[in-house]
Amino acid sequence: MTENYKTFQLFCEHCNWKKITNDGNDLKQLHEIKRSPIQVKIPTYDVVNQKTVDSKFREQKRKFRCPNCGYSMSLKIIVDTQKALESKQEIAERARERKELEEKILEDQRKMYEEKNRFDGS
Ligand SMILES: [Zn+2]
Repeated sequence: MTENYKTFQLFCEHCNWKKITNDGNDLKQLHEIKRSPIQVKIPTYDVVNQKTVDSKFREQKRKFRCPNCGYSMSLKIIVDTQKALESKQEIAERARERKELEEKILEDQRKMYEEKNRFDGS
C-alpha cells in the first residue's frame, strides 16, 4: 500500500492537539468519523452497447475526532516519501540527460572545428 511511504498529521484547530503518524495502527485508538464517498458521476445508460454505465465515487479525506475536545480533524499528508523519492530520481535522470546533450554539443563543435581546420589547411 502506498500509504506506507507517507507521514500524516492530525491537528485539532480547536485545542491544538497534534499527532504525527505514518502508521495506520496508531489511529485505531482514535474515533474515526464515518464519511461516505461522494458520487461524482450519475449512472448512465449506454445506448450503443445496451448496458448501464456505473456511477463513479470519490473517497473523502479521513476524519477523526479529537481525543481532547471532540472536534473533528482531517488527516493531512505532510511527507510523501515515495513522491519525494520519485522526484529525486527524476532530477537525477534530467541531469544525466543534460550531461549527455552537453557532451553531444561539445562533440559536434569539435567536429565542426576539425572540419574547418581541414578546409583552412588545404
Ligand atoms: Zn481538540
